[in-house]
Amino acid sequence: MLRYDLHTHSVYSDGTTVPGEIAREAAAVGLAGFALTDHDTTEGWSEARIASAEAGVDFLPGIEVTTRDEWRSTHLLGYGIDPEHSELAEALARVRRSRVARAKEMVRRLSADYDITWEAVIGDAAGAAVLPESFTPTVGRPHIADALVAAGYFPDRGAAFAEVLRPGSRYYVPTYAIETVDAIGMVREAGGIPVLAHPAADRHSRSVDVSALERFVAAGLWGIELDHPENRPEWIPELERFAAGHGLRLTGASDYHGAGKPNRLGERSSAVGSWEEIRSLVAVPR
Ligand code: AMP
Ligand code: ZN
Ligand code: FE
Ligand code: FE
Repeated sequence: MLRYDLHTHSVYSDGTTVPGEIAREAAAVGLAGFALTDHDTTEGWSEARIASAEAGVDFLPGIEVTTRDEWRSTHLLGYGIDPEHSELAEALARVRRSRVARAKEMVRRLSADYDITWEAVIGDAAGAAVLPESFTPTVGRPHIADALVAAGYFPDRGAAFAEVLRPGSRYYVPTYAIETVDAIGMVREAGGIPVLAHPAADRHSRSVDVSALERFVAAGLWGIELDHPENRPEWIPELERFAAGHGLRLTGASDYHGAGKPNRLGERSSAVGSWEEIRSLVAVPR
């Protein structure tokens, strides 16, 4: 059976491997294809495309957009968007700029109690050594976590998140996020396919609720990522019923972050049907 992993991160955001390495790993674990969905950037696509052709796996360009719906931080996957579409490109640039200011402020707060600097966070950013000159990855809390781990304060990213990087910590600072319904509209206008990422993620106190889903569907949502390592099983049936009643497609993916998270590439996946359906809807050459 052909399997496809629709959600992965590289050093262009907060993964720890380069896109080419994901392509080679995808082939090694028996995936027929994968989508690169770095946070708020499309910079890794060309490397992923070239390496995928060499490794003999199919590649779908994607993105994971940082959005917000009311109080809830909400991640939106967008497949096959035109990266030049100006409204979306400008919104993403704003998100990336805000992330830098926010990470700097978190580092400033942390530096009162921990011996870390902004230079260490950026210098240690997983991909600093391998990214093109002058390119900054989409900065997030995982990069701060890596600096804290490198300085010996925590054993891994998860421990740093649990203690100092979680919302509610006195070091936590929120970042600008696009309204989810606006992001769905922008992904559609940019020719892409919007899929709600991990709607039942266990980091939240509850699942995305039905009234929010109604608004997302009205805005053009195509599918939901129902099979994801962090989705809580007890919240799945309601989402499944909603999807069936509203013509939403279901996807599965690992949310691979290299060594940055326990998620293994291909541990969750989508079948060839959803992959080919997305491919048929977007203007992306094979
Ligand atoms: P940010 O984008 O700065 O808000 O950070 C969120 C990112 O951190 C997401 O991509 C998550 O995958 C990652 N993340 C959240 N919690 C953890 C954790 N416990 N361990 C490792 N990575 C995490
Ligand atoms: Zn991430
Ligand atoms: Fe996410
Ligand atoms: Fe992700």
